[in-house]
Amino acid sequence: MRKPGRLPFVPKESEQPVKIFEPHIHLYARTTDDYERLALCGVRTVVEPSFWLGQPRTSVGTFVDYWESIRGYERQRAQMYMIDQYHTISVNPREANDEGLAMEALGAMAPFLEHERCVAVGEIGYDDITAAEERLMIAQIEMAVERNMPLLIHSPHREKRQGTIRNLDILRDMKVDPDQVLYDHNTEETMDLVRDYGCWAGMTVYPYTKLSPERASNLLDEYGHERCMINSSADWGVSDPLMVPRTIVELRRRGWDDAPIQELVWDNPRDFYAQSGRLQPPTVEARPEPVSV
Ligand SMILES: [Zn+2]
Repeated sequence: MRKPGRLPFVPKESEQPVKIFEPHIHLYARTTDDYERLALCGVRTVVEPSFWLGQPRTSVGTFVDYWESIRGYERQRAQMYMIDQYHTISVNPREANDEGLAMEALGAMAPFLEHERCVAVGEIGYDDITAAEERLMIAQIEMAVERNMPLLIHSPHREKRQGTIRNLDILRDMKVDPDQVLYDHNTEETMDLVRDYGCWAGMTVYPYTKLSPERASNLLDEYGHERCMINSSADWGVSDPLMVPRTIVELRRRGWDDAPIQELVWDNPRDFYAQSGRLQPPTVEARPEPVSV
């Protein structure tokens, strides 16, 4: 039996007047209980990005099954708690070094980008900053640009600043519209670079590594919340799917009003992913009419 008082604090939705769009969360790696906890905290919409599964792939079929799963079964789990779920599709940089398999996976990926709930190409970027990773990233940027789709790019775990400079230079050289780019996992090391480029800036809040709610709030106080998003990323590692609500509490402690908080945790991610043309009610009021060109 659970001992009373041992559960993590979860505010009731009625105590959370803001609604939350979680722009980057790997619920594939979490239990169904976590969907319920998110719903209780006011999370109404999530984006599940395609990521690395923790071990090398052995065949292209593992990509296909995984992509099917994040757009199928994960969406069903989200729906059980009235959460509107979308996804992004990519081949991860950690999968770049087996180039034959990576190229086969890119071929398999193309039809998945046509799905009505696929809202970006991602997450892509550097891991070890190798030439093979760069070729894979450029191929996927081209796939997004051809389809006029948003891009979710993460900063490298090592050599973060140098890798970010190189990554943003590639985007500039390829003349990618900064409006269509969400550059994620920013820290104090990279925020000025991303602001200078002019794309959307993501901040991942973790219990120990990456940013704490305090450090994310410091960055938001310094740079403002315009074109910023916070996310929990929440995967198999030590992470916490409630880091967005916990950061909201920290911002309130600092005197932030609900209106800018709502822009940060709802309007910004909605506006970014709405560029896909694929967000649907209840996340947007009405699905936009397709634009004929
Ligand atoms: Zn991720």
